[in-house]
Amino acid sequence: MNIYTKAVHAGDRKKPGAHVPVTTPIYAASSFFYESMDQLDRVFGEEAEGFCYARYDNPTNAALEELVSALEGGRGSIACASGMAAIQLAVTGALMDRPKRVVAANALYGATIKLLNNVLEPFGVETTYVDICDSDRVARTIAERKPGCVIMETISNPLLRVGEIDRIADMTKSAGAALIVDNTFATPLLMRPLELGADIVVHSATKYLSGHGDALGGIVTAGEEHYAPIKQLAKTYGPVLGPFESYLTMRGIKTFPLRMERQCANARRLAEWLASHPRVLRVHYPGHPSHPDRAAVARLLPKGLYGAMLSFELKDAGRDEIFAFMDRLRLVVRATSLGDVHTMILYPAMSSHRDLAPKQRRQIGISDSLVRVSVGIEAIEDIIADLDQALGGAAESALPQMAGFRSDDVT
Ligand SMILES: *Cc1c(COP(=O)(O)O)cnc(C)c1O
Repeated sequence: MNIYTKAVHAGDRKKPGAHVPVTTPIYAASSFFYESMDQLDRVFGEEAEGFCYARYDNPTNAALEELVSALEGGRGSIACASGMAAIQLAVTGALMDRPKRVVAANALYGATIKLLNNVLEPFGVETTYVDICDSDRVARTIAERKPGCVIMETISNPLLRVGEIDRIADMTKSAGAALIVDNTFATPLLMRPLELGADIVVHSATKYLSGHGDALGGIVTAGEEHYAPIKQLAKTYGPVLGPFESYLTMRGIKTFPLRMERQCANARRLAEWLASHPRVLRVHYPGHPSHPDRAAVARLLPKGLYGAMLSFELKDAGRDEIFAFMDRLRLVVRATSLGDVHTMILYPAMSSHRDLAPKQRRQIGISDSLVRVSVGIEAIEDIIADLDQALGGAAESALPQMAGFRSDDVT
């Protein structure tokens, strides 16, 4: 079934009965009642389907989990209270019966790096970071380190780099390691890592899946081998998403492919406009013909859908000029998050990469003139007009086509 159809139907109307709600309601119950002890015993023993205690499972979460499993093509999912709870569950689950060593992409969400360095390392988990877009180097690092798992993101933050997931999946498989992919930026509309050989997919559902800036959540989706052990671990850990957030997330997902398609189209238009703006030094966008991973982008992302995140650097600008530019914005929202219906902007040097020394930031390519934009579903002309006035109105026209910039083709 097509992803647009799955997004609207999967998970709902599960249990036949006198009245079947068309969409899954919020089950605000911490435990569940059965007519007989025998029935409850069979549910506890997982011999019969059903729910006994909400830390294990709840009907609203089960519907959401079935929905995301359908979108990602997984055996099963676990809805977690945040993206970070999902990542912790995935990494500890993958390492349960494997060497306590991680090979991680050097460009990862900041809190994921903190989780590896500040939480898991004191428990004896060693992490080695590698340039995930250099597949030969990744192969050498996996051979040297013999990790229990490899963790990467489909599209990295904030420079939007794209690693070769399918090749890395082959490497991890032959090394007996699990590949965990954070698919928050690409979403299952653009990439389905399990189909490319990954073992476990994680999402910050807070972002594109929910999409409305009103619910925090995370999801782990696993293939056949990893689902059952991770589910058992979750029952003990209790990272469970509340049923209210679960409902909001499911409501959000019904329109996620539509939103994402529009957001990707808007991002392409905005990237073109920014690339030709006299005050812009450089645009980081996976659909740009000069993108360093253009071969991987062309191979792994659908034509025309290059994500809805972009970053750009202003010429001769430091913190003061960037702050002044961002303060002048009237429509684009200055806030930390991404993937919402509204366009948002943030300054990585102040937020996601604040803890790094300026020199370290420069080494990984994050300059003091870099801003990151999460493009929303608005009419892109209005977003461009707002950015244009904040940049000083220097652009000639609202939507020039830059010579040599083929927005629907990166090869
Ligand atoms: C936001 C984010 C996370 C963390 O998710 P929370 O829901 O904030 O816990 C993890 N990975 C990526 C790529 C993110 O953007």
